[in-house]
Amino acid sequence: MRLGTRGPHNPSYVWRSLQSTKELIKKGARKRIGSGCQTKIWGDPWLPDQVNPCIESVCSQGLESSTVSSLRSAVDGSWDIDIIQDLFSERDQRLILSIPLSRQECDDNWMWANERFGVYSVKSGYNLQTNVSDTSPNSPSINWKFVWRLGIPAKVRNFIWRVLSSCLPTMQAFLTLRVEVNNCCPICHNLPEDDFHALVSCPWARSVWNISSIGSYFNSSCTFADWWINITHRRNQNDVELATAILWCLWQNRNDVVWNGKCKSATAIFDSAQTLYSQWKMTRKLHSPQINTEQQTMQERWIKPPE
Ligand SMILES: [Zn+2]
Repeated sequence: MRLGTRGPHNPSYVWRSLQSTKELIKKGARKRIGSGCQTKIWGDPWLPDQVNPCIESVCSQGLESSTVSSLRSAVDGSWDIDIIQDLFSERDQRLILSIPLSRQECDDNWMWANERFGVYSVKSGYNLQTNVSDTSPNSPSINWKFVWRLGIPAKVRNFIWRVLSSCLPTMQAFLTLRVEVNNCCPICHNLPEDDFHALVSCPWARSVWNISSIGSYFNSSCTFADWWINITHRRNQNDVELATAILWCLWQNRNDVVWNGKCKSATAIFDSAQTLYSQWKMTRKLHSPQINTEQQTMQERWIKPPE
């Protein structure tokens, strides 16, 4: 049965069951971007977002049938940032730019978003239908309200959101999407680079954490989410905010290594994180010198994050 097929006037039990399965598969089905030529920008589920994998920005007139390939640079095939910034909301921009692109010409494929290797299984379909998380029942969950209340620059908050949503374009993430890359860490050249390695367990990152008062709480069986939950439970809010600045600076340094071949010392990375955080706090103070208690309560109220 094709995903777009319409039903008869008087549906039988079998038809209704098939229809329900079709809707279920549609909820979990995602387009994996190859060339982008077979995926419509508006309408196809192609963004890495569990809740809404479709573009939310309003479609500009005349672009209804445009494909994802038109968002790629004609020069080198990378994302065309100017076009993307012109057409899409911040949420859509962030999700699009987190999708790694292959330099090799390959077709777009359908994949199953709720299974590790993109293949539909009854278990993942059941989990989706019953809204049961696929993670261990004992694993603690992330307090998203806490994340969005942190007093940190918006770019850092968005970055933390991307890491916690497994949207960081690490070498391992590229490999998982079947992009042919060497998944080795570009800094220590020793272990695969996933988000936890890049930001916490790489010897380079650990030396930065050890310079800070926060410490790395390193545990080789951790995931990044485990580590984050541990930090947020153990440390006060100021420490957690400084930790986010360190994570941000570690990732900037990692990108500088990949793109420019430059690597800062651990001390320099920690200093830049401290400067980023203290300057942000100073700016906030300067721009809101006299806030009465009522206003403060209003400001601290949780604002719904972008979805
Ligand atoms: Zn490393």
